[in-house]
Amino acid sequence: MSDSTDIEWADATWNPVKGCTRVSEGCRNCYAERAAARFSKPGEWGHGYAEWRNGEPRWTGKVSLIEEKLDLPLHWQRSRRIFVNSTSDLFHEQLATEEIGRVFATMTLFRRHTFLILTKRPERMLDFISRWPPRVIARAPLKNVWLGASVEDRASAGDRRDWLMRVAKLGWTTFVSYEPALGQVDWRGWRFLDWIIVGGESGPKARRSRVDNIRDALRHGRKTGIPVFVKQMGARVIDRAAAGFGGCAPTEWPAGTRTEEDPHGYLYGGRGDDVRVLLRDRKGGDPAEWPEDLRVRELPR
Ligand code: SF4
Repeated sequence: MSDSTDIEWADATWNPVKGCTRVSEGCRNCYAERAAARFSKPGEWGHGYAEWRNGEPRWTGKVSLIEEKLDLPLHWQRSRRIFVNSTSDLFHEQLATEEIGRVFATMTLFRRHTFLILTKRPERMLDFISRWPPRVIARAPLKNVWLGASVEDRASAGDRRDWLMRVAKLGWTTFVSYEPALGQVDWRGWRFLDWIIVGGESGPKARRSRVDNIRDALRHGRKTGIPVFVKQMGARVIDRAAAGFGGCAPTEWPAGTRTEEDPHGYLYGGRGDDVRVLLRDRKGGDPAEWPEDLRVRELPR
């Protein structure tokens, strides 16, 4: 946890919960699992939460509320947009409802901050805010708490949409993080959102990130008036070759953009072929390197 972060859409992270387990394809390269496994020797902060199995990091299944971190936002005087549990999932099945309630109680107390919670378990999120705890929920929806779901492809979006829609119907601010954007999403039925974050996968094992998928999310935002925040293109950016140029059309990507098939400054491939775009920023996180229409970083109103 930190009162600053390199996550572009937040000012700080706060992790009052430790540990997690994988849910879907979006978890395959979970950076939190890898970080916990890296520090999993006795005495280190990841001990008991993650381990190495056949050279791969794996959560052990232990998930705990870290009591001493509960009041951390108290010490941050300036109001901040705080990403809650950037390295876990607040609605993990191993956490007791009462423990989730204690995190919510903290957020109720510190109204100067805006808390953003992302989950891959929106069914538990809905269950929590619908039923518990009466003292907190009596004041719900909390205007300084935004509730979001992570999705990565059509299947995960389909599984999670209706739960989040029901959260929105209860009056909460809702958002989606479509990151890593691994596959197409059917955006019909997502009008209820207050915000969309979209980005390709980064890291050493990053999977392909299609620019088309990012554009689809943007198009949905334009059509519905939902603000969109394009976070990053990802580490393995794939675009379709444009007419007449083989690789990237200079009218879309900034002049000088290189493609994988372009070791000598020539562009290969026919129209419609997949072309890997090589960006200097390793996460594809520098908007100056993107086509102009993708340079969109809006926040909810
Ligand atoms: S839910 Fe989030 S923290 Fe948990 S394994 Fe998946 S990506 Fe990692």
